[in-house]
Amino acid sequence: MIQRKSTKCIHVGSVAIGGDAPISVQSMTNTDTSDVAATVAQIHRLEKAGCDLIRVAIPDMKSAEAVRSIRDSITIPLIADIHFDWRLAVGAMEHGAQAIRINPGNLGGPEKLAKVVDAAKIHKVPIRVGVNSGSIEKDLLKKHGFPTPDKPDALIESGLRNVALLEGLGFHDIKISIKSSDTLTTINGYRLLSEKTDYPLHIGVTEAGGLIAGTVKSSVGLGILLHDGIGDTLRVSLTRDPVEEVRVGFELLRSLRIRERGPELISCPTCGRTRIDLFPLAAEVEEYIQTMETNVKVAVMGCVVNGPGEAKEADIGIAGGHGVGILFKKGKIIKKVPENELLPLLLSELKKIEEQGKGRGPISGSGS
Ligand code: SF4
Repeated sequence: MIQRKSTKCIHVGSVAIGGDAPISVQSMTNTDTSDVAATVAQIHRLEKAGCDLIRVAIPDMKSAEAVRSIRDSITIPLIADIHFDWRLAVGAMEHGAQAIRINPGNLGGPEKLAKVVDAAKIHKVPIRVGVNSGSIEKDLLKKHGFPTPDKPDALIESGLRNVALLEGLGFHDIKISIKSSDTLTTINGYRLLSEKTDYPLHIGVTEAGGLIAGTVKSSVGLGILLHDGIGDTLRVSLTRDPVEEVRVGFELLRSLRIRERGPELISCPTCGRTRIDLFPLAAEVEEYIQTMETNVKVAVMGCVVNGPGEAKEADIGIAGGHGVGILFKKGKIIKKVPENELLPLLLSELKKIEEQGKGRGPISGSGS
């Protein structure tokens, strides 16, 4: 049983973060933010995948100004990511950003930070103090050395120092991230940080890599933290379409039984008994279930003899044989059909399930 660490609750637009709010999954667009049409189109795809919060980079004033039009065209809260230039932070908030991510220490000094904090107070916008191992202040690197798994102190002190800068200005609507591209440094850093603060934590392994390496690193790093009860919102960072980040994020939460969204696919790895071309079939089912919201377990198995039994926990599934296939529910065979009818049959059953059960829990076992 996971005991979630107690943290303060803040709100980014309509999404609560921390306290007993569900752990939110966020991502970041990789379009040019000033290209409103492209950015909105990508955010719409992310919304469909279940993304709770979206962050956009604000590298220039044109991007800060685009925030208004983007926000007006999407339904999830928008976070502006700013480095170095306090004017961009203020501009993004004036144009409707619902949170900002900054590193308070690199905005050009106390007066400039004070202007950003004033704007955050006026617009009621929370601030994420976002530190990563590449942006640690020189004096802290000198004091602690570069963060390592055994000694992530520079990351932690940098995060807390930046939080103190905001607190010194009477600002407490804060969440914190201290990311490293090293999994163990991330884990130990967040463990120590969570002992020292009760602000909500945004967790992530930064620059984690491509689909496989990034998924593994994020799953290990974030999985261990979440299992420790640490983390209130997460981003899986992948060198891929950001929609994949959201999918991985939800699978990660699902695998720990923290939060479930949409169907779960159970598919066998295939073996010498397989008499059907299972990989494309499983890929098509996986693609289809991305469009569903109902919480249902769907199995795609490679043989009719063992498939239904091996996937007994599935609400519905198919197993392929030599020219034939079967549809089964909770391990019980419901129908036998020619192989070419197997996929259309499953998809039409899934469509029915989605229509009947939108938003409900897993469907019950038998029946046709
Ligand atoms: S379901 Fe059948 S084909 Fe798939 S791994 Fe099990 S025995 Fe092999």
